[in-house]
Formats: sequence, C-alpha cells, structure tokens
Amino acid sequence: MKGLKGKTAIVTGASSGIGQAIAIRLAQEGCNIAINYRSDSEGAQTTRAKALNQAKAAGHEIQTLIVQADVSKAEAILAMMQEVNETWGGLDILINNAGIQIETPSHEVETDAFDKVIDVNLRGSYLCAREAIQQFLQQAKSGVIINVSSVHEVIPRPQYISYSISKGGMGNMTRTLALEYAKSGIRVNAIAPGATITPINQDWVEDAEKKAAVNQHIPMGRAGTAEEMAAATAFLVSEEATYITGQTLYIDGGLTLYADFREPWSA
Ligand code: NAD
Repeated sequence: MKGLKGKTAIVTGASSGIGQAIAIRLAQEGCNIAINYRSDSEGAQTTRAKALNQAKAAGHEIQTLIVQADVSKAEAILAMMQEVNETWGGLDILINNAGIQIETPSHEVETDAFDKVIDVNLRGSYLCAREAIQQFLQQAKSGVIINVSSVHEVIPRPQYISYSISKGGMGNMTRTLALEYAKSGIRVNAIAPGATITPINQDWVEDAEKKAAVNQHIPMGRAGTAEEMAAATAFLVSEEATYITGQTLYIDGGLTLYADFREPWSA
C-alpha cells in the first residue's frame, strides 16, 4: 500500500487476534512496528517473528520493538510512548486495538468491572491518542490514528453495557479528534469489526454448533478473519486514504444491515 514503507507504528494489544494481524500486515507493508502487550509476552514474540518474516518476504527491512504496557494505566502509556520515541525519534501511526469485554446483566455490573472495561477500551485509547497527537504536532508532520471499535459502536449489546458504552464512545472520540486536528494533517478513523475469529470469541469459535448459530445472523454467512480487519486498517493508514478522516468503516459481512429485513416481513 502506498506510503507505508519506513513509517513507524504502535499497535496496542498486539499479542493476539486483530492487533497481531494488524502488526503483521503493517510490517508486510514496510512499517517499523512497536508491538504492545499487557501480559502475553510469548504472544508478542510470535507477533514479532511473524512480522519480521512477512516483511522479509515482501522485501522490506524493518525494525520491531516489543513494549509491555497496560493501557488502562496512564503512566504505562507515557512510558510506552517515550520508549517508542527514543527508539525511532518519532511516530506516524497509532492503532488503538487493545480491548476487553465482560458479560453481566446491566443491573448487576460491579463498579470495578465497569471501570475496568472503560479504562482499557475508551480511556486507554484516548490517552494513547492524546500522546500520539502531541507527538504528531511536535514533529509537524502528518499522523494517523485508527481506533478498533466494533459493530457495537451502533448496535446495542445487552449484557455487555460497559463494552457498548466504550465502543459508542470510541465513535465520537474518532469524529471529535478527526475534526479537531484535520487542519494539522492528522487523520483519525475507526474500523468496526463484526464477529471475528479471535481469542476474544473463544467460546463460540471452537464450538461448531455455536459457530454455526453465529454465522446464521451474518448476511454473508460467516465470521470475519483478523487478516480482513488488518487489510482495511492498512488501507486506512496508507496514502491511498489521504482524504478519509472521522469515519468508522464497518467490516462485518453485512451485520449492520438489519439482517432481519433480508426477506420482506411487513407490508
Ligand atoms: P483479543 O482478545 O485477541 O485481543 C485483545 C487484545 O487486547 C489482547 O492481546 C489483550 O492482551 C489486549 N489487552 C487487553 N487488555 C489490555 C491492556 N490493559 N493493556 C494492553 N493490552 C490489553 O481479541 P480481538 O478480537 O483481537 O480484539 C481486538 C479488538 O477488536 C478489541 O478492541 C475488540 O473489542 C475489537 N473487536 C473484536 C471483535 C471480534 O469479534 N473479535 C469484534 C468487534 C471488535
């Protein structure tokens, strides 16, 4: 993809799933990659090995950095951004991917559990964005942020109130930052995956019956892959997408298309 070779990117939560696939894809496009993880250092090492392999196969010489940081902790984010800056002297791309979900009926959610999801998904993403934007402004060159949102940015998700709130908030964070910094050459967009085959969905991904039930709800009849999310992300951060900002791109096999209307059921 145009304009990615030699760029520097941080991917949060890059030790598994969509974050891992994005890190590998951006490496394949020639980016230097900071691989953030919270506790799965082995997963981060796997990401690094695959990223280096893919970059090499594509003819790129890239650098990688593994950075441990819990994105729910402000001081950890500051240390991570500083480490990346000291290593590469700047930043071009931030991918806010780290995310968690907790299932509980909304009237029974404990305050700490609520805070935990908001702190990782929304507050953590905002704090990473704030630090990245400060860096972009200092460098006086363009920068790009992608927030990994969800179809639940717009589709309500009963039993997952903190997740729904966090992803809904992420949509407005994307649009607000995009508007505020458009004049500074900073683009901010989101991808909104539908049901995607990653560890976060382990309960149905590994159960054929449950998986078939999930697939039934998706107009295209199947869940997405982390690589499909990574391909769209690579496009949005590349110079193929220089006029796109403030958008959420739904990558969901049609899940946001009101699947119940596939067949006419009302007059
Ligand atoms: P995943 O569980 O494999 O990835 C989440 C990653 O975030 C993990 O690597 C985890 O270690 C990391 N993480 C969690 N808390 C963290 C913290 N405090 N600090 C740093 N890292 C932390 O699942 P995934 O599906 O790859 O999820 C990635 C993103 O995609 C999430 O934001 C999720 O909400 C979003 N998403 C996923 C789906 C899906 O169906 N898989 C759908 C919509 C949106």
